[in-house]
Amino acid sequence: MTPDAYVRSAWTAPHIDSTTAPVLIASAAPMESFDPATGELVATIAVSTIADVDRAVDGAHEALRTTSWRNNGALRARVLNRWAVRLRETIDYFAELITREQGKTVGEARGEILGSIGQVEYNAGLARALYGRAIALNEGVHGVVLREPVGVVAAITPWNYPFNLTIRAVAPALAAGNAVVVKPASLTPAIVTKALDLLHEDPDLPQGILSVVVGPGGTVGDRLVRSDGIDMIAFTGDSTTGIGVMRTAADSLKKVSLELGGKSPNIVFADADLDKALAGAVNAAFTAAGQICTAGSRLVVERSIHDEFMDRLAAKVRAMRVGEGLDPATEMGPLVSAGQKKTVMDYIAIGRADGTILVGGDSLDDAPYANGHFIAPTIVTDLPDTSRVITEEIFGPVLAVQTFEDEDEAVAIANGTQFGLACGLWTTNLNRAWRVGRAVESGTIWINTYHHFYGEAEVGGFKRSGVGRQQGIEGILEFTETKHLNFDSNPNLW
Ligand code: NAD
Repeated sequence: MTPDAYVRSAWTAPHIDSTTAPVLIASAAPMESFDPATGELVATIAVSTIADVDRAVDGAHEALRTTSWRNNGALRARVLNRWAVRLRETIDYFAELITREQGKTVGEARGEILGSIGQVEYNAGLARALYGRAIALNEGVHGVVLREPVGVVAAITPWNYPFNLTIRAVAPALAAGNAVVVKPASLTPAIVTKALDLLHEDPDLPQGILSVVVGPGGTVGDRLVRSDGIDMIAFTGDSTTGIGVMRTAADSLKKVSLELGGKSPNIVFADADLDKALAGAVNAAFTAAGQICTAGSRLVVERSIHDEFMDRLAAKVRAMRVGEGLDPATEMGPLVSAGQKKTVMDYIAIGRADGTILVGGDSLDDAPYANGHFIAPTIVTDLPDTSRVITEEIFGPVLAVQTFEDEDEAVAIANGTQFGLACGLWTTNLNRAWRVGRAVESGTIWINTYHHFYGEAEVGGFKRSGVGRQQGIEGILEFTETKHLNFDSNPNLW
């Protein structure tokens, strides 16, 4: 099917029926997904049984055993490059689907797609560039160290950036020569299934190398984690879930890569370009309604500029336009579900008890918000460092404010949680940026910017934010095993 036909046939219906999506292995009664802004039905999608999961895993092994996939980097590059082209041709379709099933604004959805295409293209290149090394070890003795695919990878992904976080795992895993079974989050199954269908229909992708199973994490996801046929789990999600996945995977000593939660500090020094820092603080905290693992959900401001900065930030945040993501004027969309909205409102209640609600704090329940899961962007100040609003990931549009006197205190505050995913630094003093950037325990440090990701550059977590790295060279190497072939041509016995 050409991408044009794909778009038309898929989106002229009132909702997507993915019951029979070719990439999907699912035989149980279908589930539905809904637009978090309007409550409308978005997609109907079949659910997988445990037997379906086992079938997907067996099919993946069969494909690795019977085809040249794991040894043919040029083939893998060709297939991935064609997928990138198809994704580029269907940006409008996927932007609408992401907004309708997940809720983020259509501009944010386009950013998610463009970043993902970049990752596919980057990994398509790496598929032909993975190589090992040869070592002269002794007279007549040589070692050849190879990078080989791990085998069958289970990619278990969350609902907040479903398109990107799935592609971020699938592209390097396939580029390295693995087979992949994907389990998307149950709130956003159509986005993932449709994106992977575009790859699955490539005639050169061997049957079985890629499949999707749909269903609850506790059953379908758990089966993948326990399966003897799965060689590696690439998990992106909540830290507590990730710890459980690692514990379960330990029983069969599976390789795990974990991309988990965060409570990232966004530090503004008095010498910063304050206009830039203000725009950056809004972007850091309220992108995707705060439902992003790297959200700069703690604003850490130098005391000498606190009052001026907070006055200006409060005015900006009060003026933000909340609404349906498909409306181009919308600056912040809804929460993904009623459950997520309740979690966030519970944290706002804690913030009200522990500190002061400077902006927002309200559940938006009247027209035009009545059928969706909307919350006003919220800023909480005057919190003790021990407040759960400071220490726990909220995953919603709630910004907690902390203040510092000097650099040492800024670093201590930045490192004061169990997480270490990302950090923003706003300063015109490059020596300071270097010192603080080195001292903060975090996988990404953004200096005078925030939320910029590149296929070439690794991301991942210190502390309870994760294990391993995604993206970049390290990202693809996660999906490989090292093998040493040792040749001894010495005629003498050792
Ligand atoms: P979640 O942990 O609830 O679910 C993630 C995935 O795991 C889903 O597909 C779910 O069905 C599955 N799952 C749940 N229980 C499982 C189990 N016992 N065994 C196997 N699979 C199971 O997370 P979520 O609510 O979908 O996503 C939000 C979380 O993801 C936040 O904590 C956020 O910070 C984190 N996240 C991290 C990154 C990163 O790159 N570090 C990126 C995005 C989101």
